[in-house]
Amino acid sequence: VDGDFTELRQRLAEISDLGRARALLAWDERTMMPRGGAEARADQLATLARLRHERLASDELASLLDALRPRAERLPYDSDEASLVRVAQRDSDKARRVPAELRAEITRTASVAEHAWVEARRSSDFSLFAPHLERNVELKRRYAECFEPFDHPYDPLLDDFEPEAKTAAVRPVLEELRRGLVPLIDAVRESGHEVDDSPLRGSFPIARQRELVGEVIAGLPLPADTWRLDETVHPFATAIATDDVRLTTRYDEAYLGTALWGAMHEAGHALYETGIDSGLRRTPLCRAPSLGFHESQSRLWENWVGRSRGFIEHLRPRLATAFPDELANATAEQIYRAANRVEPSLIRVEADEVTYNLHIVLRFELELQIFDRTLALEDLPEAWSEHMREYLGVDVPDDARGVLQDVHWAAGSFGYFPTYALGNLIAAQIWDSASAALDDLDAMVGRGELGPLREWLREHLHRHGGKFTPAEMLERLVGGLSVDPCLRHLERRVRDVYDLGASAQIVR
Ligand code: ZN
Repeated sequence: VDGDFTELRQRLAEISDLGRARALLAWDERTMMPRGGAEARADQLATLARLRHERLASDELASLLDALRPRAERLPYDSDEASLVRVAQRDSDKARRVPAELRAEITRTASVAEHAWVEARRSSDFSLFAPHLERNVELKRRYAECFEPFDHPYDPLLDDFEPEAKTAAVRPVLEELRRGLVPLIDAVRESGHEVDDSPLRGSFPIARQRELVGEVIAGLPLPADTWRLDETVHPFATAIATDDVRLTTRYDEAYLGTALWGAMHEAGHALYETGIDSGLRRTPLCRAPSLGFHESQSRLWENWVGRSRGFIEHLRPRLATAFPDELANATAEQIYRAANRVEPSLIRVEADEVTYNLHIVLRFELELQIFDRTLALEDLPEAWSEHMREYLGVDVPDDARGVLQDVHWAAGSFGYFPTYALGNLIAAQIWDSASAALDDLDAMVGRGELGPLREWLREHLHRHGGKFTPAEMLERLVGGLSVDPCLRHLERRVRDVYDLGASAQIVR
C-alpha cells in the first residue's frame, strides 16, 4: 500500500472516530445521562456532527479520491482499497451536495421537534406537533432537492438508509408483501382459534428479568467482552467499535416478551457488528450495506431463532427456574404459541411478526404521499386512521396510539421505515440459504448450538461490512430480493400456531 492510500485511510479514520464518538455521546444520552445534561449534550453532538461533515465534504478528501480512483479501478473490485475508494467517494459526493448550514438546521430543528413530540404524545394532541412536523418536512424537501434530478422526491431520503434503492422499486415489493399478508391474517381470524399468551403475562420482577436476559444474551455466540446491556426507553443497539457494542432494552414487569425478544433483536445487530472484518475498522466500510441488511440480522435472531419452537424448548428450563410462579407449569409448546400470537393491534413496536409489516406499509405509503404532496399534513391523523381500519381492522382511539406513536418523523427520519420490512424479507431469504447450507439448522437451534449459524452468517455477510451495495450483496447472497420466502415463513408459523392443517387453504 503506497503513501496515498495511507493518507486516505488516515483521513477516513478521523472521520470514523468523530462519528463513533458521537455515537457514544448519543448512547450515553439515552441510557446514563442525567436529564440536566440535555442542553450541553445537544451542543456537543452538533459540534461533532459539524466537524465530521466538514471533513467528509472537504476539497482535500475529494481531490485525494480523484487522484486514487484510476488506481483503485485497476484493483480487484472487492479488495479493501478499491472498495474504500468507491464507498468513500459516494459518501463524499453526498456530503458535498448538502450545504453545511442546511445540515445543521436539520439537526437543530429535529432536536426541537423531538421535545415537542414528547409533549404532544403525552397529551395525545397532534396539533401541538404539527408545526414542528411541517418544519421537518420542509427541510427534508430542501435536502432532497440537493440531489436533483431524481425520479421521486422520496428517493434521496430512502437513499440515506438503503443506498441506491428507488421508490419505484420498493413500492411494488411492499405492495406484494401487503397483498400476501391479508389472507394470512384472515386465516387467523377465521380459524376460530384463540392463542393464549397468558404464559408471558403476569408479574415478572425486573431484577430477575435482567438476570435472565443477560444470561440469554451471553448464551448467544457473541465474542466475550464485546458488548454490554443497559436500559432505555426506546431500545436500540449502537457500535462504538466492532468489539464494543452497546445493547439496550426495556423491561415490562407485566409482560416478559418485551425484554426477552427485544434484547435478542438488539443482540442480532451486535452479532453483525462484531462479525465485520477487523481490517475494515475505522473506515466507512465498517458498517452494513444498508439498514435493511442490519435489520435482517436483528430479525433473524429475534424471530427465526428466538421465537422458534426449538429455541423456546431450549430456553424453557431457564424460564421456569427464573419465574417458577409464572412459568413452572407452562409447557414449551404453550410458551412457543404465546410468543407467536397474531393479533392486529395499534402499536407497531408491540406488533406480532405477521401484522408488523402492515404497520410499515402504512407508514411508507403516508410518507410517499407527504413527499409527493398528495397528502396535507393536517390530514395525517385521519389518513392514519383510515389506513389502520383498512389494513388491520382496528380503530385508532387517539393521536398518541396513532400518528404520534413513533419518534422517526419527529427526528426527521423519513425513508427509514421501509428498511424494517426490507429487513424481514432479507432475513427470510438468508435463513433459507443458511438452512440449505447447514445440516439441520432447526435441530441445532433446538440444542442451543448457534455457533455454526453465526459462522455461516459471518462468512457470507458480516465480514464484508459495507464493501458491496445492498443490491450487490443481495445478488451474491440470495440472487436478488424476493417477498415469497418471508410469506412462506409466516404462513408456516401461522399454520403451526393456529392449528391450520396443511390442507387448509390460504390463498396468497
Ligand atoms: Zn433493529
